[in-house]
Amino acid sequence: MIDTHAHLDALEDPAGAVARAHAAGVDRIVAIGSGLSSTQATVSIARAEPGVAVAAGVHPHQAADGEPIDRLLDDRIVAVGEIGLDFFRDYAPRNEQRRVFAAQLRLAAEHGKPVIVHSRAADDETAELLGEFGGTVVLHCFSSPGLLQAALDRGYYVSFAGNVTYPNSGELRDAARAVPADRILAETDSPYLAPQAVRGRPNEPAYVVHTIASLAETRGEDPAELAGRIDENAALAFGLA
Ligand SMILES: [Zn+2]
Repeated sequence: MIDTHAHLDALEDPAGAVARAHAAGVDRIVAIGSGLSSTQATVSIARAEPGVAVAAGVHPHQAADGEPIDRLLDDRIVAVGEIGLDFFRDYAPRNEQRRVFAAQLRLAAEHGKPVIVHSRAADDETAELLGEFGGTVVLHCFSSPGLLQAALDRGYYVSFAGNVTYPNSGELRDAARAVPADRILAETDSPYLAPQAVRGRPNEPAYVVHTIASLAETRGEDPAELAGRIDENAALAFGLA
């Protein structure tokens, strides 16, 4: 199994979390940078731990704190992310968010890398900016039913996180049923959004098994088969061996 989105640099004990993931059958993790120093820390973790690939990016929350990443620092970097727009929290001015997002879409295009996108309360603008990007798109922690049609029309990968397991997640479950088998992904977004079965604890990559089980139930599929399909989808999306 694979966890396609974990902030290993934000975990208390990344090495322990990776070991527990492997013990749970989650042998691959895409570890996410959310700024330059976070990306550097994530690359260091990936150098030390087996089965960890890296995404390099500046999160929209950090868009005002520094320049966008202008080169890929390490051959473990398989994607640009997470990047995007967050007009719900508005931690960074919207114009800075737009500028950094656009710059990193260009970086991904130059390097032929997929992008991992965070979108909150910004569906229309996110769809518009992504419309100019010709590469592979992963919508992470999918929580925007308003982006679903664009995702389906354009063949984006849609990654579901722990919030799809919550009791009030009807709209997200509908989305999980609508995404085609070759476009669905699962993630933890560790240390955030622990699935219902372990809710209240810091999330970690091993817990993606709960999200996959819930997605399988929602879609009426066998959990092991869905886990295998998600692993294959992720390998294609991120170019993993
Ligand atoms: Zn994230």
